[in-house]
Amino acid sequence: MSPEAGPTCAVHADKASVGTCEHCGTFSCGACLGWIGNKKICATCVREGRVTVFGVPWDQRAELGLARAWFRTATMMFAHPVEFFRKLDPYGPLGEAFLFAAISGGIVSLLFTVLSLLFGALLGLGMLFDHGPGIGGAEGLLALVIMLVSIGGMFIVMPPLTLLIGNCVWALIHHGSMRLVGGGTAGLAATLRVCLFGSAYQTIQWIPCILLCSPLNLATTIWYLVMWGIGYTQTHEQDGWKSAVGIILPGLMCCISYIGFYVIIIFLDAL
Ligand SMILES: [Zn+2]
Ligand SMILES: [Zn+2]
Repeated sequence: MSPEAGPTCAVHADKASVGTCEHCGTFSCGACLGWIGNKKICATCVREGRVTVFGVPWDQRAELGLARAWFRTATMMFAHPVEFFRKLDPYGPLGEAFLFAAISGGIVSLLFTVLSLLFGALLGLGMLFDHGPGIGGAEGLLALVIMLVSIGGMFIVMPPLTLLIGNCVWALIHHGSMRLVGGGTAGLAATLRVCLFGSAYQTIQWIPCILLCSPLNLATTIWYLVMWGIGYTQTHEQDGWKSAVGIILPGLMCCISYIGFYVIIIFLDAL
């Protein structure tokens, strides 16, 4: 090697280095260096497991199919949340995260529709019995069909829409709060990805026995908040307290402004 020549790859002595590994600093050729998240990492670091290689079941949806990929992603998130959010690429495309949330919302629609159809059928049956057989019975049946179709139609469209919009709003609020204390360094899109993938937790809240049993519903809500915390901590590689501030601060601000509002009202009333 002549002194003028640049550094060569540590593994392939015949190839020029295109840069250094951001984990170990080794000179690497184009074939050895690859992107892991937002860092260029050498093949040796990847092979020896020195860095976290991103990858969740959702990345394999082409092979698994949407339904199985959604289910495996959701179960990995429930069973191993820390591992899941460490392996979720913070810089991955937003489109795939929106698709995941849309399917979570679609399942909510299905559960919601089943519930409302059951409820509607009970109401309709009640009407049939009130009117007795004959014309009243036929009218009752028509009312039942109209009710079932309208309830079903509304509840199929609403959950995915509210879920998608809701998660965008949550991401904005949480991200803003985390930025106040120096968190959220991986960016708003990374926060949004945590929210959109976390939508699987919203799905289980609509399982009828959980929905109708308030202690269970409260438990899943707390679980959901904890999951957000784990997600933000892993994704932004930040201290847990910064994630907690992101989640708790907006709620706290709401409470304080409510209390402040009433104090002002009472004060003005007393004048
Ligand atoms: Zn390396
Ligand atoms: Zn090389």
